[in-house]
Amino acid sequence: MKKRPIVILGAMDVEINYLIDTIGPCRKEEIGMWRFYEGNIGDWPAVVVETLMGSVNAAVPTAFAIQKYDPICLITQGTAGAHHVDIHSRDIVIGETVAQSDFRETGTRPEGGGSDVSKWQYPGSEFLEEGRHVMRTRLRSDPSLVRLAQNVPYKNGHLVTGIIASGDMWNREADVIHEYRQRFGSECEEMESFAVLQVAKAFGVPALAIRIISNNELIPGEEYDRDIGVLGQQYVLDVARAIIEEHKK
Ligand code: SAH
Repeated sequence: MKKRPIVILGAMDVEINYLIDTIGPCRKEEIGMWRFYEGNIGDWPAVVVETLMGSVNAAVPTAFAIQKYDPICLITQGTAGAHHVDIHSRDIVIGETVAQSDFRETGTRPEGGGSDVSKWQYPGSEFLEEGRHVMRTRLRSDPSLVRLAQNVPYKNGHLVTGIIASGDMWNREADVIHEYRQRFGSECEEMESFAVLQVAKAFGVPALAIRIISNNELIPGEEYDRDIGVLGQQYVLDVARAIIEEHKK
């Protein structure tokens, strides 16, 4: 029987280059502007997808990857910005839950009435579940994949399990970061994981969100460092190996 691959998604070169080198030599497939690198982790097929940045960019190749490869699971991974001062660059967040942070409905205010962030609502995206229309702001990574990831050692920082806020926005204003943290209970923010989990849920494919902190805008000296991406990929590869071992049982 043909082995179903594991699919790992990342937006930028610094989030996928180490993975591609390790699973290679790869066969490169292209659909539209998206690139799919087909290789192996040990004796198991693996595909690394370059999604490009942002939620729509992440959603489209996720749908294609599911249709094309029928994967055992998806890992959405890459860099993220911290949401509080107790989490630092190089720490890793296992996204047990991912909250959609940019699907907003504002309060009603007259012309000249300004804006009141505290009145904004987050209804979430629409899903069709057994014929019923449901709005969801939060999606969960597959719990058994979360447990597997929690047992994979990581040496370059802390391993935290928690909530990732995901949306097409890079927040550098301290007050807004605090507001997100309060509203979502999030450890960090990034732009792709909700979109990937949304599509994965639509097709019933187990998925896992993992992020490495590449910037903490609240701490001087922890500005964005794109080179941190490789440390995240090394951990993700260890998680992928653990998933494959478990799948073989
Ligand atoms: N242009 C820079 C950084 C891109 S930032 C570069 O080329 O290196 C946007 C990407 O990084 C997104 O894919 C997002 O998922 C991730 N990211 C990292 N830190 C982030 C933050 N603080 N807020 C939002 N996205 C962040």
